[in-house]
Amino acid sequence: MSNTAAHPPNFDVVIVGRGPVGSTLANLLGLCGLRTLILEREAKTYHLPRAVHFDDECMRVFQTIGLADAILPHLTLSPGMRFVDAEGRLLLDWPRPSEPTAMGWNLSYRFHQPDLEAVLNDGLTRWPQVELRTRCDVFALEQDHDGARVRYEELDTGRLVDITCGYVVGCDGARSLVRRFIGSALDDLGFHERWLVCDVLLRKERPDLGDFSIQHCNPQRPATYIRGTGNRRRWEITVHPDEDAVEITQPARVWELLSPWLQPTEAEIERAAVYTFHSAVAQLWRNGRFLLAGDSAHQTPPFLGQGMCAGIRDAANLAWKLARVIAGQAKPDLLATYQSERAPHVRELIELAIRLGGLINTKAVEAALATGSARGDGQLKLDVQKPLLGPGLACGDRSLTGRLAPQFRFRVHGRSDDRVGYRFALLCRSGLGAAMIDQHHASLSAADVAIMCGEEAGGLDAWLDQHGFDAVLMRPDRYIMGAVRDGEDPATLIAGVARLAPLPSAA
Ligand SMILES: Cc1cc2nc3c(=O)[nH]c(=O)nc-3n(C[C@H](O)[C@H](O)[C@H](O)COP(=O)(O)OP(=O)(O)OC[C@H]3O[C@@H](n4cnc5c(N)ncnc54)[C@H](O)[C@@H]3O)c2cc1C
Repeated sequence: MSNTAAHPPNFDVVIVGRGPVGSTLANLLGLCGLRTLILEREAKTYHLPRAVHFDDECMRVFQTIGLADAILPHLTLSPGMRFVDAEGRLLLDWPRPSEPTAMGWNLSYRFHQPDLEAVLNDGLTRWPQVELRTRCDVFALEQDHDGARVRYEELDTGRLVDITCGYVVGCDGARSLVRRFIGSALDDLGFHERWLVCDVLLRKERPDLGDFSIQHCNPQRPATYIRGTGNRRRWEITVHPDEDAVEITQPARVWELLSPWLQPTEAEIERAAVYTFHSAVAQLWRNGRFLLAGDSAHQTPPFLGQGMCAGIRDAANLAWKLARVIAGQAKPDLLATYQSERAPHVRELIELAIRLGGLINTKAVEAALATGSARGDGQLKLDVQKPLLGPGLACGDRSLTGRLAPQFRFRVHGRSDDRVGYRFALLCRSGLGAAMIDQHHASLSAADVAIMCGEEAGGLDAWLDQHGFDAVLMRPDRYIMGAVRDGEDPATLIAGVARLAPLPSAA
């Protein structure tokens, strides 16, 4: 391994895999100014979609990397999901509001994955210190105290290449090689089912199919309908254990299965493939200089549409921590908070997705209603709360720690995240910000903490009032790190950034 003093590493970070998670992470690292290399085995992004839905939090991350406006034209809003029985009677409604949430974006977007990945990949070209090498198959990793070494094969030439770096992040999907080098097993959360995923392109308008996602809770053949963007529509249909995965993807059989909703004259099949949906979380997300993000760290059944979303959250949680550690502004221990914060969050979502998968069986709907995970108020409605981050960073009052801070509109113009950038920010009640800047100018700029005040950010004072705080510290990933009440010294929060270190419980 190279001696870093004598031979600085070729890159700060090497990302293995340019799926949506690797590409988002590279954009965030580019924003942080890190020398980043992405190594991707394939020449082009996968031309067919897997993910079709993402949420307001993902859009906020895309806003942070300056790509929300480029992504927005490719999206449609989702009004929500409905569960119906085999006769089409509504069992359960899960509506999504048409108004933006406190994140400043809508709760549920539909998209075509290749469109999103094209924007993310184009976005990489903005960062001169970020490089993408395609047709490069990573096959070996090493690390020691000084750095890491990545070995890969250039698939077009057969040349073997060796490079050094500070950290390696495996965004290399469910069969991750980096996970094997980390030596991590997967915790199996118990769900493994085969589903036929069938994407069609409508030849004629079919408004009757509707905009809601529909879960057909037919115990004989559970199925999901999802309205895609443009003329794309998707059906995901259970494959029985005795059915052959090749036979069921033959056009005649696919049309037979689609016949309750669609006839062959009305659409062409773009893709019919059997996927086995797994539910698993890696036991170790980091070993020294090697880390995991996205499907390499966790896999979920798609019923909540949260697999990719979870990976985007990983990227947002990890990038600023890597940047601080590499810049010497934080101890490498900070990276221990990555798994401690993210793993419980994603595990809760996977468990919810498994329960939701179970709801597609009508008996399970009754059971869920009996246990109160859905509530009845005339019409049965489902209301899903976002999980909290697991234990990690906290300072001051911890009652809001692990939740996302809202995004505020500036009274004059613009959104608060754009003003703050990918940095810490102290959100202060009116009257407090100017005093804070006067008193703590040096420590604020040393810790790279922005200040946002109630005078300029519409709704900030009301939000602080609601929670009884004078100031709240927001991290670069928009999660809350701590808060102070009337009479407490906000300097505690600035000091918390300066001495970034995990809680003993997260170490
Ligand atoms: C049918 C279906 C529906 C889904 N719906 C949703 C949804 O609605 N919403 C949602 O959020 N999620 C959904 N998901 C999940 C989502 O698609 C995945 O979570 C997401 O694509 C994972 O992204 P990733 O970047 O982690 O990995 P991937 O997209 O798998 O990318 C990994 C990349 O790493 C590369 N690679 C692997 N090994 C190497 C190596 N050794 N060297 C170089 N390169 C390598 C691969 O070529 C690949 O490009 C769905 C999944 C499926 C299957």
